[in-house]
Amino acid sequence: MSDTPFEVGRAGLPEGFQFSQSSLQDYKDCPRRFQLRYMLEYAWPAVESEPALEREQFLETGNRFHRLAQQLLVGVPPEALRRAAGEAGLRDWLDNFTDFVQKHDLLALSERRVEFELSAPLGNFRLAAKYDLVIRSPEGGFTIYDWKTSARPHERRRLAKRMQTRVYPYLLARAGAGLNGGRPVEPGMVELVYWFAAFTDEEARFPYSRVQFEQDEAYLQDLVDEIARMEDFPLTQDERRCAFCVYRSLCGRGEGAGLLDEREAEDDAAAFEAGFDFDQIAEIEF
Ligand code: SF4
Repeated sequence: MSDTPFEVGRAGLPEGFQFSQSSLQDYKDCPRRFQLRYMLEYAWPAVESEPALEREQFLETGNRFHRLAQQLLVGVPPEALRRAAGEAGLRDWLDNFTDFVQKHDLLALSERRVEFELSAPLGNFRLAAKYDLVIRSPEGGFTIYDWKTSARPHERRRLAKRMQTRVYPYLLARAGAGLNGGRPVEPGMVELVYWFAAFTDEEARFPYSRVQFEQDEAYLQDLVDEIARMEDFPLTQDERRCAFCVYRSLCGRGEGAGLLDEREAEDDAAAFEAGFDFDQIAEIEF
């Protein structure tokens, strides 16, 4: 008997499907959500969290910050960006970011890639990632930066469990030779840094290693194989996740959305942010 109000159709992964940290996180959080979003490609109108307007503004501000950060890193003067930022909260984040960039002298580093994409084969599929910033130091080390715009800092132990924390350094070590003069990137030379626009003292650093690389490779391969074999994608048993999911009514998991503050208290906050589609970010005029 179906565990949803109506039968979910069957479909495989779309041809040429690329796994990402977001889609893998969706699968980990709820296999049914992965099936609905990526295999059946269902758009569903339920609001993820309430109040809807607040959520929209939250997303929009995060998107705008990412665009401003990108522009600063390619050399647009901070004063022009401050004028473009408009709202005070966004200007504060931009000021924090400008201080961060100056403190680490990031603009002086010639080997920096902004909004940089990498992909590599993973079984019969591909694994892809889009990085906010990757820099290569003069000593040959790689630092991956990811900007977070949540209203609360993320606990390190929660970040450590996110698929993003596994996928980003793994993929750089696996497929980053093009950034390293054609030589393989040694995992021990890679570090992932989460930087929080509203909590500049809360930076979270995750050094990578050869051991972790090998564990991640086996883990990701097994996970993708599991998804490819799966026929019946179960609903999550953790119904708290449903409060923030667009497929709530489809799954018979309630009509009312969760509150934004509640959501931010959950692990979902990281995926919520990490799901930014840079192609969707509106251009900011100067
Ligand atoms: S509503 Fe719940 S069970 Fe349904 S897809 Fe979303 S998280 Fe999964």
